[in-house]
Amino acid sequence: MSKGTKVPGYMQGKGSRNPRGIIGDREIRYKCSLQNTILDVLRGRPGWQEVPGQNNIQPNVNQANPKQAGQQSTGQQQANTGKSGSGSTTQGTTSGYKGSVRNPQGPGTQSAVPTRLQGDGDWDFYWCDREWLAQNYDTMFLYEHQKILHFRNHYELTRKNLMVKNLKRLKKQTERELGKAEGQSFEFFPTTYELPSEYHIFVEEFKKNPGIIWIMKPAARAQGRGIFLFRRLKDITDWKKGEYQPLSDPNREVPETYVVQRYIENPYLIGGRKFDVRVYVLVVSYNPLKVWLYRSGFARFSNTRFSLDSIEDTYVHLTNVAIQKNAPDYDPDKGCKWSTQQLRKYLSAKHGVEAVKKAFKGIDNIIIKSLQSVQKIIINDKHCFEMYGYDVLFDSDLKPWLIEINASPSLTASGKEDYDLKFGLLNDLLNVLDLENRLTGKEKRVGGWDLLWEDGPILADDGNMECAPNGTTASIPNSFLGCHNERKRQLRELYTAAQSIKKS
Ligand code: ADP
Repeated sequence: MSKGTKVPGYMQGKGSRNPRGIIGDREIRYKCSLQNTILDVLRGRPGWQEVPGQNNIQPNVNQANPKQAGQQSTGQQQANTGKSGSGSTTQGTTSGYKGSVRNPQGPGTQSAVPTRLQGDGDWDFYWCDREWLAQNYDTMFLYEHQKILHFRNHYELTRKNLMVKNLKRLKKQTERELGKAEGQSFEFFPTTYELPSEYHIFVEEFKKNPGIIWIMKPAARAQGRGIFLFRRLKDITDWKKGEYQPLSDPNREVPETYVVQRYIENPYLIGGRKFDVRVYVLVVSYNPLKVWLYRSGFARFSNTRFSLDSIEDTYVHLTNVAIQKNAPDYDPDKGCKWSTQQLRKYLSAKHGVEAVKKAFKGIDNIIIKSLQSVQKIIINDKHCFEMYGYDVLFDSDLKPWLIEINASPSLTASGKEDYDLKFGLLNDLLNVLDLENRLTGKEKRVGGWDLLWEDGPILADDGNMECAPNGTTASIPNSFLGCHNERKRQLRELYTAAQSIKKS
């Protein structure tokens, strides 16, 4: 294998060339650490070839600075404490729903070209898990064309405490520079404090608002684990006792970081049940910020009717599927999900198109502001991309609240409909990344993904108005969450148009 000029990933691969020729002349080689829908998508993609071996390939070592290899930076240690259990399962996970895998681009054709090179960077695309990236990124070299899931310090947005810290900072800066009124556009995350570090400020706030409900959440855990609600300070005494062992105690463990957050007591209810909405967002660059929003997603309902009488009942208050599927009366056939299209339709019928447009515009605002809050912190790297799963909760006034952001949203399907959604979502993600180089690079829509932001807001084309009120042709944002997602037809037209533009 003749080595090209190798440059560390974090140095943006200045001018390095793939020694094996540009993609397009040959098969695209991929690695994947998950065994769920993403693996089905990659295996079904024409001209893509799996690199044999598992997730444990050796990183390329920095020849110029061999010392760097094996060293673990503070950032890495932090990343290793990143959230677990939200679908970032490594090899050996349960397979996703095994429905029939149909390839939207045509019959699956595995390349006949045998894999010639293995290991050591012999991949073009790697759907890796966060742990792998944290351990290998700093000593890894990437060729110009290589693409890898996750930005180096994704946890800045996906750890509950860091997300809020970054949002508070940008909010303050906005108020300072643009005034208090502008700062109001950040009022989409509930009042939150980090514990134990901000315990005393929390107690002051607690006393100012007697009787309200608070929710305690471990900062780095997922799937509802370790979460509880409380009304009285003494309800967290037991927790506090554990966290506040005297410093002199030699057996004292580093206390787990929690966030304590104002509980949204008036969630929007459908059929008496609470739900939150999973929204998929793709970031292909932080500098400039380039963001895509997927049209489809789902609402996750709790299984039991909402009430504030039983705040200890997780089946009432937590909408995580991982929690709800253990409820005694959970019906696996019915599940607890609605598609975002179904939700949008329901809300539009109930409140009118304009009210729903306003509510969904609030979600766009959440997405952009949260990404901007880490824009200068995330280590931008043109090799990296991130698919976030945003969790948003509507209150009874249809105001959207940001609950949390996942860097590894679950890709394991819970049924046929869920499988189809995730299969389309992931295929379209690969279509946006376009390793095959079939697009022009100017697209505003690729399958179900709409370009929401590219260094500024993107406006919709006139022809793209399905969700616009009264068929208006005035400029509207290129945002179609919960709108019709006829992705296959769109892709057919897109590729035909791109081909003729490229020819000419
Ligand atoms: P996890 O990462 O463990 O899933 P989340 O922050 O997403 O933790 O919280 C789990 C669930 O708890 C959410 O899906 C939501 O239903 C509920 N929840 C979390 N925070 C709040 C809040 N501030 N107000 C109301 N419900 C909340």
